Amino acid sequence: MDSSAELQPLNSVVSFVAQPRKMLIGGGWVDATSGRTFPTYNPATGKVLAQVAEADGTDVDLAVKAARHAFESGPWRTMKPCDRSRLIWKLADLVEQHTDDLAQLECLDNGKPLVYARAVDVAAAVEFLRYMAGWATKIEGNTIAISVPFMPGARFHAYTLREPVGVVGQIIPWNFPLLMAAWKLGPALAAGCTAVLKPAEQTPLTALRLGELVNEAGFPEGVVNIVPGYGEIAGAALAAHPGVDKVAFTGSTEVGRLIIKAAAGNLKKVSLELGGKSPNIVCADADLETAIMGAANAIFFNQGQVCSAGSRLYVSERIFDRVAEGVAGVAEKIRLGPGMDPASEMGPLVSEEQMNKVVGYLSSGYTEGAKALSGGKKCEGNGYFVEPTVLVDVRPSMKVVKEEIFGPVVTITPFKDFSNLVHLANDSMYGLAAGIWTRDLSTAHSLAAELRAGTVWVNCYNVIDAALPFGGYKQSGWGREMGHEVLELYTEVKSVCVQL
Ligand code: ADP
Ligand code: MG
Repeated sequence: MDSSAELQPLNSVVSFVAQPRKMLIGGGWVDATSGRTFPTYNPATGKVLAQVAEADGTDVDLAVKAARHAFESGPWRTMKPCDRSRLIWKLADLVEQHTDDLAQLECLDNGKPLVYARAVDVAAAVEFLRYMAGWATKIEGNTIAISVPFMPGARFHAYTLREPVGVVGQIIPWNFPLLMAAWKLGPALAAGCTAVLKPAEQTPLTALRLGELVNEAGFPEGVVNIVPGYGEIAGAALAAHPGVDKVAFTGSTEVGRLIIKAAAGNLKKVSLELGGKSPNIVCADADLETAIMGAANAIFFNQGQVCSAGSRLYVSERIFDRVAEGVAGVAEKIRLGPGMDPASEMGPLVSEEQMNKVVGYLSSGYTEGAKALSGGKKCEGNGYFVEPTVLVDVRPSMKVVKEEIFGPVVTITPFKDFSNLVHLANDSMYGLAAGIWTRDLSTAHSLAAELRAGTVWVNCYNVIDAALPFGGYKQSGWGREMGHEVLELYTEVKSVCVQL
């Protein structure tokens, strides 16, 4: 990779990574009880970027206790909704004010191009926090006219209270580290919960910087606790902790299953946003130029490390060659390079492990008979770069078609008619998202109704908004995040029944 044009990081970023980062527990920055730290790497170079305190079960326990104390005895409990709202809004303002350094940290830790880190990750985190700030003052119950037939003559006043679920454990992935932290913390705080957040071990830095902004905004101590560490250690401890009332997880379906098992001990509430292998469908009547560009962006955005990526492209056989060649043509032109180079359109994958996983899928594809129309291998040189790859000659039974690759790899399959298409598109253990490209209204809405997916995009892809519920059918998850639906995940409903 040519790195001559890379931007120099801001001084604030340089000094942030220069010293080992601590964890946030009970409002203070502390080392791990064990004294241990772990490295986080710059995926564009493979070199260590920073050292970070490594939480284990003891630290997680301290964080949960701090969150419990803040939930039960702190000022958070009695704070007015409008004041909670102001704090969340203030946090959004602070994130916005620190767009430059947060975006650079994200770029260095995750690998994504700086332009996207700014325009997508930081900007969406700001908007999402503002959206959730608004909900803090709009959480309400109902009054309910009840009949109670076995108590003739009695009169009642019954109503529901919607209360915070309590202490929440939140475990997030490395693909949108800051944005995922905002997605998790926003609704928890709006609902009045207290949180223990565990960022991914690959990308802990922006969550820790966010923690500093949480303190600067003036949240009471212990309302937000951040425990960086490894999944099998800190994550597992959080998911299993008996003092946690609810666990929210975004990550792989495989770990989602472990979370459910760990949560069973105290039957904590669980919400999961898991993997995907989303079908993206180009009909013969689509505006092909838009559909080709849209299909390419649907898979290649964020190096393909998007749970809702359009990784299975289905194209009407009447236009198959044009679309396949078109998407391969877009792939060939994508400029790979370090995220800090303003000319880079695609960065490295997040880690060596992820790069090897993606390369392993490519080999399995070739062994099973798939052919690469573009890309097809990892790049020479330093960093975890993999070429954007379009695979054709694929069959539904192949691993590259069935399993989530989480990298810049799309398979393209022709379809004849819609009944065959719906079967192919729904033939997956996942059901997170789907895309349809057509100019026919009836086709769009009929297909949207047939697809078993939590989100269906028509003539667009990966359009995610704070107000639009997001989540999975089938093994893509439990529950919906965003929109007002997410408040269900962070509140309990209490029925109060008063005999008059
Ligand atoms: P990936 O395999 O792509 O890294 P994971 O699902 O393993 O995705 O990781 C998502 C998040 O889950 C990360 O924060 C990770 O540390 C955490 N995690 C991984 N394993 C476990 C586990 N056994 N229990 C709890 N959290 C875990
Ligand atoms: Mg893992």
